Amino acid sequence: MADEKKLTPRAEDFSAWYNELVLKAELADYAPVRGCMVIRPNGYGIWERMQQALDAMFKETGHVNAYFPLFIPQSYLQKEAQHVEGFAPETAVVTHGGGKELEEPLVVRPTSETIIYSMFAKWVQSYRDLPVLMNQWANVVRWELRTRLFLRTLEFLWQEGHTAHATHDEAEEEARKMLGVYRDFMEGWMAMPVVTGRKTESEKFAGALRTYCLEAMMQDNRALQAGTSHNLGQNFARAFDLTFQSESGSMEYAWNTSWGVSTRMIGGLIMTHSDDTGLLVPPLLAPIELVIVPIYRKEEERSRVLEAAERIKRSLGEWERRAPNRLRIEIDAREGITPGAKYYHWELRGIPLRLELGPRDLEKNQGILVRRDNREKRPVSLDTIGEEVEDLLELIQESLLISARERRERHSIRKPISYDQFRQLMEGEGAFVYAGWCGDGACEAAVKEETKATIRCLPDEEFQSAETPRHCLKCGGSAAEEALWARAY
Ligand SMILES: [Zn+2]
Repeated sequence: MADEKKLTPRAEDFSAWYNELVLKAELADYAPVRGCMVIRPNGYGIWERMQQALDAMFKETGHVNAYFPLFIPQSYLQKEAQHVEGFAPETAVVTHGGGKELEEPLVVRPTSETIIYSMFAKWVQSYRDLPVLMNQWANVVRWELRTRLFLRTLEFLWQEGHTAHATHDEAEEEARKMLGVYRDFMEGWMAMPVVTGRKTESEKFAGALRTYCLEAMMQDNRALQAGTSHNLGQNFARAFDLTFQSESGSMEYAWNTSWGVSTRMIGGLIMTHSDDTGLLVPPLLAPIELVIVPIYRKEEERSRVLEAAERIKRSLGEWERRAPNRLRIEIDAREGITPGAKYYHWELRGIPLRLELGPRDLEKNQGILVRRDNREKRPVSLDTIGEEVEDLLELIQESLLISARERRERHSIRKPISYDQFRQLMEGEGAFVYAGWCGDGACEAAVKEETKATIRCLPDEEFQSAETPRHCLKCGGSAAEEALWARAY
């Protein structure tokens, strides 16, 4: 079986490890078109759970879902380009339809600001129509040259929130609020700690006034931008004539925000928690939380163990503390496969808990629970298994976040270092380096050119160092801000 061959260890080749894991755990596969991916049920099951959790959080914060079309008139993007300097999406363009050349080419959406704000312009007349708080779940296309499963593909799935407000301050509050929602999700559900902050002028979304982001550290000490939230100012409102009559009767341009996260988060999840054996999914996002592996030799044992497994599955499913959020359980009753091979199969796929159940265990009214994260084994009485399983799942969820945070802090540098040391570090094991920046784009660009590291963000106060750095990492001049530097995906 393809399963049996071990993954390349992370320490040997992190990137090979990642690719092999995605394929062998059956999360995704390469599609016939270069740069496109097929998301397989194991991967899509994680995405579905991400979607459900986020969707509930968006609705709790007052947003509603809508759907806007895949095709966008090319003139819309040109209109945007006139207003938004530096906006050049890698677009796919449809020139023919029904066998005829189109009068106006259609762009396959790279993001939906243009079409959404042109529709808002139609729907919003007065300050009474504001705010508009909308989200859409969709796919987008960016014609990327270098692609990697989940991290950068031609087509990917995401959500994009788009809002319109009467004032700058309301838009700013919304952009910050959604950054907080993303952080709660990434830490609470993905167990992936993030640093939040603002992008520099050169790293922000071209159409935005300010871009906020969430940066997570992967196990190779590189950063992954896991989500962004933009205060768009009035840039798009001006381009698409999104105006409203204010309370005092004057006509004003609306203020917009947009914010998004994508299937890229699955890549982040993999590179945050998984190990040389395979995937490790935090329980809250695991399509299966517990797998029961029946162990037997003789036919008589087989029926007894399988019956017990079914009984346990049923009782856990109906177990009061969990209902109606039922425990997601699978019994691996496949014939002709050894228990050891089954363990490996489920470890590779990242299922957080396993219950081993054999005839001798049943005589003692027990089973053996094994944690995927630290391999710890413990016998549990079948009378109290519901509580044991629930407690362990919660514990695993918590310890994944704690160990990811500890790992990040171990590889974060907050003491002053020379530019040479920084350069060596970036070429070697990598790190999150908190250091001063004079605010000059030339220093930022030189660092990028020389070390491939970028300013991931100007971190929010909570993440800033106790002692504010005094000198720019690059030029040694006086620091205007503290920046987080790292190589990134
Ligand atoms: Zn400088």
